[in-house]
Amino acid sequence: MPPDTAVRLGTFDPADTGGLKEEVAKERLRDLNRRLENLQELLYAEGKHKVLVVLQAMDTGGKDGVIRRVFEGVNPQGVQVAAFGRPTEEELAHDYLWRIHPHTPGAGEMVIFNRSHYEDLLVVRVHALVPEEVWSRRYRQLNEWERLLAEEGTTIRKFYLHISPEEQAERLQERLDDPTKRWKFRLGDLDERARWADYTAAYEAVLSQTSTTWAPWYVVPADRKWYRNLVVASVLVETLEGLQMGYPASEDDLTGVVIPPAG
Ligand code: AMP
Ligand code: MG
Repeated sequence: MPPDTAVRLGTFDPADTGGLKEEVAKERLRDLNRRLENLQELLYAEGKHKVLVVLQAMDTGGKDGVIRRVFEGVNPQGVQVAAFGRPTEEELAHDYLWRIHPHTPGAGEMVIFNRSHYEDLLVVRVHALVPEEVWSRRYRQLNEWERLLAEEGTTIRKFYLHISPEEQAERLQERLDDPTKRWKFRLGDLDERARWADYTAAYEAVLSQTSTTWAPWYVVPADRKWYRNLVVASVLVETLEGLQMGYPASEDDLTGVVIPPAG
């Protein structure tokens, strides 16, 4: 999203496929996936840049699927996932970024946020967990905090996985019907679904006010899992390629070194 745009989610089709056929998209994803593997290794080897990927979505939007599919084969040593659920009492006793900051990436690392600091402008706003005067200043605070991270060398990309309420109904039904998926289903998910319009408004405010040049949001059509994965993978590969990374030399002078027989 370009900065300072009034985003209306109704203008984005969750079932968009960019005119691609599933088979073609899957083939492209395989290619992007391999490139991502190499780029992540380069990121780690160079040890310079920090990369933060933020995933947000309504329930069943596909955050877990993106992590599984887009990062398939990527070396788990250099990629971490941080999931943010309901805050503990200790976390609530602090400012809302206290629990987030320790999970931001260090040099050479990539971190994926499965939910994020944005919940403090989403679930918190929808359920009025804090007064409006408190949450309303968080748009500015988050922009400033992300700016700090960016100025200190963090590349940030934020994704809103955009599904339709019809697709969510199907996915929730699947979870209900499949004993291997039922553990993901909570009755509370239905209360959240009942607040679809409120969440949409909260997401629109986030997308309109917190997409910045240093930490842009992408609205990803997510009804088709294969297109969703392709879009996220494309953005990440393009972003990492844009960092112009290079493999560092060894710290030692290796000219003329021959591997001797083992002693
Ligand atoms: P799940 O992603 O299904 O494991 O669910 C995590 C739950 O934690 C969701 O219902 C989120 O809305 C909730 N959650 C995450 N962050 C916050 C927060 N800052 N305040 C309140 N609830 C949160
Ligand atoms: Mg859930």
